[in-house]
Amino acid sequence: MTPDALKRLTLTLKKRAAAGWLAIEDALPGGRGRRGLWSALIALVLALLVTLVWLAGRYEASQLQAELERDTADAVSDLRTQLARHVQALQGLQSSHPTEAFWPMEAQALLRENRDWMRVEWRDKAMGLKNFADSPLRSPVFDRAPRAETLNETLQACMRAQRSNGATYSSSYFLPQADGLGFEVMDMCLPNTRDGQLVGFTVVTYSLQELLLERLNGRYGRRNEVSFTEPDGTRLAIAGSQRRGFRVFTAQQLLDLPGNTLVLRMDGRRSEPDLFPNVLTALVTGMSIALISVMVLLAKDSRRRLKAENDLADALAFRKAMEDSLVTGLRARDLDGCITYVNPAFCQMVGLQADQLTGRNAPMPYWPPEMVDEYQQRQAIRLAGNAPPREGFESVFMRPDGTQFPVLIIEAPLISVQGQQTGWMGAVIDISEQRRIEELSRASQERLQATARLATVGEMASLLSHELNQPLAAIASYANGSLNLLKDPQAAPQTLDDVHMALRRIAEQAGRAGRVINSVHDFVRRRDQDREAVAPQVLFDAIAPLVNLQARKLQVKVHTRIEAKLPLVLCDRTMVEQVLLNLARNGMQAMDQADRAERVLVLQARRAASNAEQTWVEFSVTDVGVGITDEVAQQLFTPFFTTKAEGMGLGLSLCRTVVEQHGGHLAFEALAPKGTVFRFTLPAIILDKIPA
Ligand code: ADP
Repeated sequence: MTPDALKRLTLTLKKRAAAGWLAIEDALPGGRGRRGLWSALIALVLALLVTLVWLAGRYEASQLQAELERDTADAVSDLRTQLARHVQALQGLQSSHPTEAFWPMEAQALLRENRDWMRVEWRDKAMGLKNFADSPLRSPVFDRAPRAETLNETLQACMRAQRSNGATYSSSYFLPQADGLGFEVMDMCLPNTRDGQLVGFTVVTYSLQELLLERLNGRYGRRNEVSFTEPDGTRLAIAGSQRRGFRVFTAQQLLDLPGNTLVLRMDGRRSEPDLFPNVLTALVTGMSIALISVMVLLAKDSRRRLKAENDLADALAFRKAMEDSLVTGLRARDLDGCITYVNPAFCQMVGLQADQLTGRNAPMPYWPPEMVDEYQQRQAIRLAGNAPPREGFESVFMRPDGTQFPVLIIEAPLISVQGQQTGWMGAVIDISEQRRIEELSRASQERLQATARLATVGEMASLLSHELNQPLAAIASYANGSLNLLKDPQAAPQTLDDVHMALRRIAEQAGRAGRVINSVHDFVRRRDQDREAVAPQVLFDAIAPLVNLQARKLQVKVHTRIEAKLPLVLCDRTMVEQVLLNLARNGMQAMDQADRAERVLVLQARRAASNAEQTWVEFSVTDVGVGITDEVAQQLFTPFFTTKAEGMGLGLSLCRTVVEQHGGHLAFEALAPKGTVFRFTLPAIILDKIPA
């Protein structure tokens, strides 16, 4: 294949592979579409995960908020309970009708118990101060701001208390202190009655700050900031601490007291719900991680699959391109002999479409009708597994137009991945062209041989003329002598005897001339090519007349030596005789310049080195001629190489072809001091091995 053709083939294969891949990519749910699907899936899963985590966080936050709301409601209810107890404690104080002397002591005792009480006052009906007690736990709170200035709120509370005949609270007001600071306070006014008649009031001043600290801080202050605010959000008092955190949760609850409404506010600073704040979120997150891992693994697996698919598609496209560009027909059959696959080359060979062939069983449409029985038997034998594997056999196929052509079929078992035989794969080669070339070469070989023979015949003609001259001259002289003898009418009877003898001689010479002519005739005419078992002696005998003819002309002595008990040789007799004759002739011609006494040609036959399988007989032709120079040796077997004026140069090339066709070997070597020996071998056949 030329480089150009190779390049073209490669290009075609690449194009086909690419086309095949494109087709496959379109067919697959892959490529760009697949990438889009994957992106959408990943986006959806991520969105789902974010939503889940966000919802879990929100749920967590709402849990915290609800907890705070609950705490605030509890705190308000606690406060109510405490305040109600205070009212009871004060009612207890008043109902015991304390004397002026005892009241301060009991009030002091209550003040010591309740840290949030700043002061307790006993006032008469007209709000005149009868007695009072300041909290022993701190410095008096009304030092800086005189009580009269703050009495207004208290008065209103007491008026409402009188009307409602129950404890009433004043609005809160700011009470500056001696240290320059101050705090918010609130009064509670409890009307004192005796026998249903108002006799005075008990007023308790609450510090809102202390109220928070004392009543709520213990339970709620550790995690929250608890404060009283006005409805507009102004903070009146704060207690509790705020833990560090990111997010503030706030809950408010109204503390609805008779005469005053306070807003209890709780600020809980909680850290944003942690990433793993609870089992739910942890579970969701864990599952998300697992899901993402599975997706990553899936994506990897899918990428690997995609790569494998690509490789497979490449390999398929390549294989298809190769099968399509093959000139060898491929035919696969299952174990029953049904055709399962044929390539384009096979279809083209038998002139049928692939769908006309696949699924068909014997008799096949490409079998010549007259051979169907034979082929069917052959197929049965092959399918039974009795065929030597991978050994080609020749057959003849037929096209639909009836033309038949020879094919070489090489069949091999088809083995599956599991190692089981699933059928047969046959490579079918159309050998018509090969046959034609063989025929041509055989014809040209024959022509070459005929030419060589003619050359020999040309030479023979000159020999004949030389050789026939002798008997013809003898015949002529005998005839003339006889005629002269017969001219004399009185010839003695002895003369008649002489004529008889002369005629006998004429007959002898004529016979000799005839034999000479026949031997040449035989040589030229014998064309049978069959191999036969021949004794070496017979071969030598056959060429002897012709060799002797030439030997006499060239004044050469010919010796023939044949080893005793030589086996027969299996050969094409005529051709081997030609070889011997050629070699003998060359040898004799090479001795042309030699001293006449030295001109000896030895023809020899003996056993050659043999092995167990084959016995060989070696023939040799030895001369003492000019020998072969290196220059001549190089071209010795080249057709038409000759050093002779009248030579054809075909002798030795023909000899070698003939010997090699017999499986033998032709060689030559120089002899010392001069001369050459040509040897060749022929296969021998031992008589007892000849089949009957
Ligand atoms: P041809 O005899 O027609 O020349 P061959 O092929 O028989 O053709 O021989 C080719 C040449 O080889 C001869 O011309 C000769 O020079 C040389 N040759 C062949 N045999 C011998 C030999 N025995 N001794 C020397 N030269 C030889």
